[in-house]
Amino acid sequence: MTDTLPPCPECSSSYVYQVDALLNCPECGHEWVPDNLADTASDVRDSVGNVLADGDTVTVIKDLKVKGSSLVVKVGTKVRGIRLVDGDHDIDCKIPGMGQMSLKSQFVKKVSG
Ligand SMILES: [Zn+2]
Repeated sequence: MTDTLPPCPECSSSYVYQVDALLNCPECGHEWVPDNLADTASDVRDSVGNVLADGDTVTVIKDLKVKGSSLVVKVGTKVRGIRLVDGDHDIDCKIPGMGQMSLKSQFVKKVSG
């Protein structure tokens, strides 16, 4: 075991153990979600606040110049099968005719259905 669990926030016991996403304290019975696990659920949202997920289809809401090239992703371009990633550009996707691309979630809108 290389995992180091945080001490109990209630009684500072170090005999904390993990059950699924919860940490449990055997000394005072406290149960809680550790910060580092809670953070992994942070949502990526599109321009109007829809929560995006891997595999969603989105449309581009404004012309986007592709850095280092003369290509422009036109407004209204439909992008299927997006993949969420960490970073400034939080969407990885493949745009027909252009290839692999990174987009910012605030410049797309989810297509429902
Ligand atoms: Zn405790």
